[in-house]
Amino acid sequence: MEMLRTPKPADPLDAVVAGVALVEDDPTDHSVGLGGLPNEDGVVELDASCMHGPMGRAGAVAGLRNVKNAASVARMVLRRTDHVLIVGEGALRFAKAHGFKEENLLTDEAREMWLWWKEHLSETDKWLAAPDADYPENVRIWAQTTGTIHCSALDANGDICATTTTSGLAFKLPGRAGDSPIIGAGNYVDNDVGSCGSTGRGEELILNAGSFAVVEQMRHGAAPKDACFAILKRIVANALKTPRLRAPDGRPNFDVKLYALNKAGDHAGVSMFSGAKYAVHDGTEAKLVDCEFLYEAKKV
Ligand code: ASP
Repeated sequence: MEMLRTPKPADPLDAVVAGVALVEDDPTDHSVGLGGLPNEDGVVELDASCMHGPMGRAGAVAGLRNVKNAASVARMVLRRTDHVLIVGEGALRFAKAHGFKEENLLTDEAREMWLWWKEHLSETDKWLAAPDADYPENVRIWAQTTGTIHCSALDANGDICATTTTSGLAFKLPGRAGDSPIIGAGNYVDNDVGSCGSTGRGEELILNAGSFAVVEQMRHGAAPKDACFAILKRIVANALKTPRLRAPDGRPNFDVKLYALNKAGDHAGVSMFSGAKYAVHDGTEAKLVDCEFLYEAKKV
């Protein structure tokens, strides 16, 4: 937020990229950057995108290994190439060409989460599970969760920039790209209208062009909350055609969250299930706001 304040406000893209870098740099967070949960081979592969409203340009990387600040690399793609999306080995080479430092992103804690998952996958493979007590308490909990960060900023000129960064779905197939690096799926900005970003099961967000669809709803006059609800319901209706995505109670068995911001500064977070929050700074104070939701979460 400090970066957006006058008298010398930064480009809002630099502000959002710096914001998410705080978490990408944190080895104890397992959703993005250093310490992110790895793919099924135990290798961390990051996805990120950024979009610059006033320029109407975007940059993205997918399957980036060994460089923790994926959103910064995505910004470099936007600023220093004629492309939008660079993947895998090419993304790493591009990052190194621009001086990004290579490092092992798999922390010991994330490796243990992966190992726990690997050892509990099958009774018939050759991996034998260690007693649960041998694993740190939070390993089993984390090994079943994932995460992503989307950050949008609206500055005093009314310009909007946004980024989405993630280590993707935990234990994904190597090379799998989610919604975060796909412009229109996990991130979208139209400087005349607003922005949207997402977290959760990326496949459904790609299939429904989720973030683009929310911004289009806002273009036609919907408030951020109503736009997110309309698209989340569309995502659910489409997903439920696939039996394996249905829980026994008929609801979706996956999560999706949409975060939208319009040109007037109105915002909303809409989640599949109750209990989620998102962070907002309105220029005066930072606060956590409850997400709206489609379904009441089951008590466990
Ligand atoms: N949306 C991310 C992906 O599908 C994962 C997440 O948000 O948990 O890669």
